Order: sequence, then C-alpha cells, then structure tokens
Amino acid sequence: MAVKKEKHKMPEQSPKERIKNFNEVPYGYDEKTAIEEAKRCLQCKNRPCVSGCPVEIDIPDFIKHVAEGNFDKAVEVLKTKTSLPAVCGRVCPYEGQCEGECTLNKIGEPVAIGRLERFLADYERRKGVKIPKIAKPTGKKVAVVGAGPAGLTCAGDLVKMGHKVSVFEALHDPGGVLMYGIPEFRLPKEIVKAEVDYISKLGANINYDVVVGKTVDVDELREDFDAIFIGTGAGLPRFLNIPGENLDGVYSANEFLTRTNMMKAYDFPNYDTPIKIGKTVATFGAGNVAMDSARTSLRLGAKKSYIIYRRSEKEMPARIEEIHHAREEGVIFKLLTNPVRFIGDEKGHLIQVECIEMKLGEPDDSGRRRPIPIPGSEFKIDIETAIIAIGQSPNPLVPHTVKGLKIGKRGNIETDEEGRTNIPGIFAGGDIATGAATVILAMGAGKKAARAIDKYLKNTK
Ligand code: FAD
Repeated sequence: MAVKKEKHKMPEQSPKERIKNFNEVPYGYDEKTAIEEAKRCLQCKNRPCVSGCPVEIDIPDFIKHVAEGNFDKAVEVLKTKTSLPAVCGRVCPYEGQCEGECTLNKIGEPVAIGRLERFLADYERRKGVKIPKIAKPTGKKVAVVGAGPAGLTCAGDLVKMGHKVSVFEALHDPGGVLMYGIPEFRLPKEIVKAEVDYISKLGANINYDVVVGKTVDVDELREDFDAIFIGTGAGLPRFLNIPGENLDGVYSANEFLTRTNMMKAYDFPNYDTPIKIGKTVATFGAGNVAMDSARTSLRLGAKKSYIIYRRSEKEMPARIEEIHHAREEGVIFKLLTNPVRFIGDEKGHLIQVECIEMKLGEPDDSGRRRPIPIPGSEFKIDIETAIIAIGQSPNPLVPHTVKGLKIGKRGNIETDEEGRTNIPGIFAGGDIATGAATVILAMGAGKKAARAIDKYLKNTK
C-alpha cells in the first residue's frame, strides 16, 4: 500500500479565537489518527531518526507499538529514555532532529514523531503515570542545582540508579524556562507540573526558594553531598545597547514572559502583577523567545505586534511551527530591519522606535550572512512596548561563586562531553554549559551527566 505523503493534520484552535485566550493552540491527535500516522513509519533498518535524537529514544520501536494500538507498551519504550515526553512532544525542534532524518522526507513529509510523542504522553497522563523500578539505595547523595530540564532529567536518572537526590531551585516553582519562559498556549503549566510530579514520585526531593550562591553556596553543599550537578540555565538577558533602552515600556523578553507566565499578568486583577501593553508592540529578534513574546502581546490586547529582525526569513532561528503560528495570528514581520534608538515622551514613556533598513553581506562566524545597514534608510514606528529578545547568557551567580571552576568565554561553565567540570565531583550541563540552546539538548546533557556522576560515585568511597 502506498504511504500517505503528508503528516496527518493536527487539529487546533482557529487563529481568530486563540488570540483571545491563553489556551493551548494544538489539540493533539486522537487514537485513530495516532495509529494512522504511526502506520506511515517505514521501520527503516538503519533507523536514521534515532541518530537525530539527542536522548536516543528508540523511535521506530515506540511508533511500531502505536501502529498496533499498544499504547502502554509504546509509553514504556518512550519512558526508558525520557522523563519529560509531554514537554518534548510539544516544544522540540523536530524538523532539525528526528523528523529531519526521516526517510519519508525523500517523498514528502516525515512521520509526525513529535505529535506521536505528545499523544503518548497525554494518553499516559490521563491513565495515570506508572512509576518504574528504582535500583537498590547506594547510600550516595547528589545535589542538583536548578530544576530546569537539565537538572530534572539528571535528578530523575540518578534516583533510578539508587542515589539519593536533592534538587535546589531558586524560584518557587520548578521547570525553569518551561515554567517561566514558554507561554501557556504552547506548553500548559499543568503539563510541566505533572512531569515534575513524576520526578518527585521517583523519589527526588525538590527544595524551592534556595538561591545557590546566596542562600547556600556550592562549597557548602559539597560538605553534605558526594557530587553536585549544576543546571542553572541561561537566564541573563542580552540587550541592544542603543539609546533609550531604559525608557518605561522597554522590557527584556525574560521579564515580559516571566511576568506573564509565572505571575499571570493576563489574569489581572486576580493576580497583581499587571503588564502595560499599549496598542502597538515591537519584539526585537526572531527566535522562539521572540515568537512567544510577539504572540503573547496579541493575547494581552495589543492591536499590532511586530517582529523586527535584522536578517532575512531564511536566517530566523525560531521553529518553523512557531513562525507559522505567529503569521497566522497576524504578527507583522519587519525583516532586514534593525533598531537604532528608542524615543520617549517628556515623562520617559516609550513612544517610538527608530529603525534602519539592512541588506545581507558575506557570511559571518555563525555562517549566516552578515546584515549591513543601508545609509539614509532610517524610519520610525510608533510603539508603546518594546521587547528585547536577542538572546540570553548563562546565569553568572553559580559559576562566579565556585572557587577554581573553569569558566568559558561566554560565561558558561566548561565541561567535557559527559558534563565533568575541572573540579572532581562537580558536574554541569544544559544552557549553563552550552549557552542558550534547546530543551532536548539540556535533557541530553542531564542524562549524560547522570551516567558520569554514577560512574564517579562508584569509584569514590
Ligand atoms: P533552565 O530551563 O533555564 O533552568 C534553569 C533553572 O535553574 C531555573 O529553574 C532557574 O530558576 C534555576 N536557577 C538559576 N540560578 C539558580 C541558582 N543560583 N540557584 C538555584 N537555582 C537556580 N527550547 C526548545 O527546545 N523549544 C522551544 O520551543 C523553546 N522555546 C523557548 C522559549 C523561551 C521563551 C525560552 C526562554 C527558551 C526556549 N527554549 C526552547 C530553550 C529551552 O527552554 C532551554 O534551552 C532549556 O530550558 C534549558 O534548560 P536548563 O535546564 O539548562 O535551564
């Protein structure tokens, strides 16, 4: 039988409706669609999709079980490699990973691996999550700093290996960027909480409101623990460094999204951290963070939401699906455009941004073509809110409070492939080591570090 060339469509809220609410946009596959989609998999012998997955999920195997309608078995296969499938099934950049390697790309669209992963995770959550067998207690204690995807994955794997794990998180909620950065309409917080709950049920002890480096430092933790994993992420926003950036109405994406997601600015007056949005918002940058900010602005009531980006469409780093959803919702893309200065009124409130048009030159160090300003092309746009989403750097607090820890040029903690730092017993992974990257890479780093920590603990008394 000929294979269907396209993925089965994902049902979702219409753009007109969804910009009025914060509910999740795609609804997910039903059982029948999931089975039909799984049947598109060719079960290739060389399994190219697995090599595209940073946590090495046995993709053909779980898909085979879905095609047979054996969802419980499929979940079992999935969970041997990932503790956060509902998250990855929603936010992973599949097109550049597993789906990018799928053989079906030669004739049409790849198998919708991400949608199938999400389907299984949602199926399991509805049914009730099973707790796997835990190895016998080893008597070793590990401290994990940061409850983002890197820290949580590392904690989950270490507990399964029989180690006693305590997680120390600065905020009052777990999940890192999954909770404070990625908006509800893309990743419902209830889902993040359920996945964190699973890690707690495995036996990890999560301590909140502990800012390591201030409340307690790593050297003190070392007295009580046999090993430390640092997964404190890249939450330090970068700025444009142009005039007017201190005006009222200019936010870092980090602050804007944290206020909205964690402090529920959209539910004012039930929550008391409002956000002043105005009629016109401009977001600077074109990654996932920028798309999230521009789409959030519309939901907070902005009439116009711009993405302003200095390169062209081809260089935009956001996931294709995010760009597609932003366009459908009416976000206006002003490409090859760079801000020069922000302009305020006499009270210091932002009223305009002055921009300049750009053209692309030769490729730079990143391999992308360098944007060059076109003299005399300056123009102004009236805006009330500006959101800077041009990247984040590693959080500096922990790296700078551990004596002798080797730090890289970008403020990242230097590690080897397995997450070992230059100090025996201290490991690190995720955005704190790589700089801002992706959820699945952070999870992959947490997994590798857990294996290295286990090895280290077995070799120490
Ligand atoms: P984080 O998620 O940043 O977690 C670090 C944790 O450490 C946080 O909970 C923090 O509070 C805690 N911490 C920090 N300092 C301390 C301290 N001193 N003491 C104790 N705790 C501390 N990736 C994708 O794959 N797909 C996407 O669609 C996507 N969208 C994104 C959208 C936004 C808005 C953002 C900001 C990022 C997005 N990313 C996306 C990137 C992805 O979320 C990150 O790469 C990933 O979360 C990194 O995981 P982490 O565990 O290393 O760090």
